[in-house]
Amino acid sequence: MPSHTASQRYLSTRGGSYDLSFEDVVLKGLASDGGLFIPEDVPTLPSDWASSWQDLSFEDLAFELFSLYISPSEIPSEDLKDIIRRSYSTFRTKDVTPIVTLDEKRNIHLLELFHGPTYAFKDVALQFLGNLFEYFLVRRNQGKEGPDREHLTVIGATSGDTGSAAIYGLRGKKDVSVFIMHPKGKISPIQEAQMTSVTDANVHNLAVEGTFDDCQDIVKALFADPEINKDLKLAAVNSINWARILAQITYYFHSYFALIRRHSFLPGSTIRFVVPTGNFGDILAGYFAKRMGLPVQKLVIATNENDILHRFWETGRYEKHQVYGQEAKGGEPGDGVLAHESGVKETLSPAMDILVSSNFERLLWFLAYDVYSTNSDALSLRLAQAGDHVKRWLDALKAQGGFSVDEKIMEAARRDFKSYRVSDKETLATITEVFSKISPGYVLDPHSAIGVRAALWSAEDKEAKPPMGHHIALSTAHPAKFINAVQDALANEKEYSWDKVEPQAFKELADLPKRVMYVEKGAGWEGVRKIVLKEVQEEIAAVAKAKN
Ligand SMILES: *Cc1c(COP(=O)(O)O)cnc(C)c1O
Repeated sequence: MPSHTASQRYLSTRGGSYDLSFEDVVLKGLASDGGLFIPEDVPTLPSDWASSWQDLSFEDLAFELFSLYISPSEIPSEDLKDIIRRSYSTFRTKDVTPIVTLDEKRNIHLLELFHGPTYAFKDVALQFLGNLFEYFLVRRNQGKEGPDREHLTVIGATSGDTGSAAIYGLRGKKDVSVFIMHPKGKISPIQEAQMTSVTDANVHNLAVEGTFDDCQDIVKALFADPEINKDLKLAAVNSINWARILAQITYYFHSYFALIRRHSFLPGSTIRFVVPTGNFGDILAGYFAKRMGLPVQKLVIATNENDILHRFWETGRYEKHQVYGQEAKGGEPGDGVLAHESGVKETLSPAMDILVSSNFERLLWFLAYDVYSTNSDALSLRLAQAGDHVKRWLDALKAQGGFSVDEKIMEAARRDFKSYRVSDKETLATITEVFSKISPGYVLDPHSAIGVRAALWSAEDKEAKPPMGHHIALSTAHPAKFINAVQDALANEKEYSWDKVEPQAFKELADLPKRVMYVEKGAGWEGVRKIVLKEVQEEIAAVAKAKN
């Protein structure tokens, strides 16, 4: 029996094996042992994939790929097709994620992932996740009335990007409520307006007096609170949710096919994907694509100055560090400023400002499995051994702030990946250079600029040089979401005007009605608990009343 017709099971990166289904892992998010879920078996591509998939639409390709992970006994094919169709009908381009060529001579292409409702790449995953949540809940609630009905309450904190994409993914979904906390007055006006102008009854924006870390602490306290968990079924939509990784695999395949159709693509050419990386979710999807069999020469990690991943690839040591105080004296704009007490540095690419990369744990599991497992051991033993290694590393990260891996692991890591760090200064210079020279008139957002900068460096690497070497840099946000960096980089360019960059939809946001609740400093997490319980009760009562 081909593996993809059997039902895929999932295990934890820390060794636990719970025999969970796709539905279980999507609704749970995190494994009970604190690990992340990975499929027991990464499916291989059907032997005729290259020819039979080459002309598929984004939606049809997504269906073929997801079907390798989700068996029809879990989600019947027609239902899965319908979920996919609805998820991507909200995108503004037919191609969903089109590619454009930025630099003909150096074969640098840009994969535009920002054509969804919030103008950032997280839409690709969260539009799908929102529909999945609704599908599972509605199915569980078939024929149930009143208190027997299951209701899902999604709670999250955001400094901008994830929150708006989650809200647009979950708005109006049946049997699901969403509460997103943001630090009041501390997120960009566009992102605030994007979130608070969503007035669906199941969407609750909470503006919290405090910092982003305060918001996150409230989320953690609620997930750990027995009282709220007694009444509500809580869920998270953060980047460790397996369905988000799965959804992101599609655009690696889609852009691969789009690229090989171009005249400039000669037989024998190589492809590197370059990914602006924070929590390692986006690039991890590329790793799955490669592991499944997509011919990718290397995946290139592009970090900003929060560079824990880059340092790992340089030194073999994964370590949090907090040495920004000294640099702050240099006085460069955006340089060396401590944004959070946790030691994260505030950069021009805030969606990549992380201290540790949450999805990196999944790669560690595969590295340990490939390097340390011997074929003579039983499969179950090999799976568990990899989990033991990951657990030891993560325990050391927690206790000592870091851990080192040996040369064999680094060899494996370097086989598939390469890494670059891009400073704020280089980010701005790249926006300017692309606009004025490389692709006149094209405006990059600062996150995408980090990818393009790394692609330009990587294209000098002898294994990846043009004309045979091609680079696809992932463009993760529309430039209008990050006005400060774009203005800084382009203010002196004659051809540049903000008016042309800003989409009409953004201009209209200011005048839309808004819905937001304020959480005062003294309210604490118990205050938020009260709000959540009351709002969910009212919502359920209103839905029941409308039915009768
Ligand atoms: C979230 C985000 C990223 C980083 O993605 P990861 O999956 O966390 O690596 C990059 N750019 C933008 C605009 C984002 O919103």
